[in-house]
Amino acid sequence: MRLILLGPPGVGKGTIAKALADKLSLPHISTGDMLRQAIREETSLGKKLKACVESGRLVSDEIMVSLVKERIASPDCERGFILDGFPRTLSQARSLSDIEKALRVTPSIAIYLDAPREVIINRLSGRLICSSCQRIYHAKNMPPLKSGICDSCGGKLVVREDDRENVVRERLLRYEEEAKPLLEFYKKRNILRKINFDMEPEKALEEILAFLS
Ligand code: AMP
Repeated sequence: MRLILLGPPGVGKGTIAKALADKLSLPHISTGDMLRQAIREETSLGKKLKACVESGRLVSDEIMVSLVKERIASPDCERGFILDGFPRTLSQARSLSDIEKALRVTPSIAIYLDAPREVIINRLSGRLICSSCQRIYHAKNMPPLKSGICDSCGGKLVVREDDRENVVRERLLRYEEEAKPLLEFYKKRNILRKINFDMEPEKALEEILAFLS
């Protein structure tokens, strides 16, 4: 099964994608995580993209498509995958569709997670991420057992550079402009399902699993 999770930054795509990946035993492919890993490891790509990613701007379609194309051709993606953070533009959506045609697989199903903007800003303003294993926490809604320390690996919890308030507002504004054509693209193909994610993650997960089954 090939799934695409769409939705504004901070809506909770990462949380739902990880839970779905566990339930369905599929790889969770987060393009944001891939880029942050490249930045942490100071690869040549990471060095090139650091300023762009940390200021909340989009990386070029060309770079993103080639990253994703290579990743989904890996053997662990044969049974499917869960894409989180890609596609972000119409051009990326078209490229993904071309890649799927070339691989002779059925098109991915797009799930659009949405929530009111105030809920999103609140979620993002307390979000913490483990600098080592990337697990996500929230200072109020999902705190770690020990302040500042990851429950899973003991890594240090940090605030993402692009979760700072001024950057969050810029990311949300830009998302609204970009999402429309992307949603139209999947709606026209009849492979779009909208889920209001103004609820507990467990409930949203149940709703998605019921739809998929
Ligand atoms: P995310 O973790 O999905 O919010 O992504 C964090 C940042 O990585 C974004 O603000 C962009 O700078 C970059 N990024 C991730 N995925 C994409 C994509 N599909 N296209 C362009 N830039 C991306």
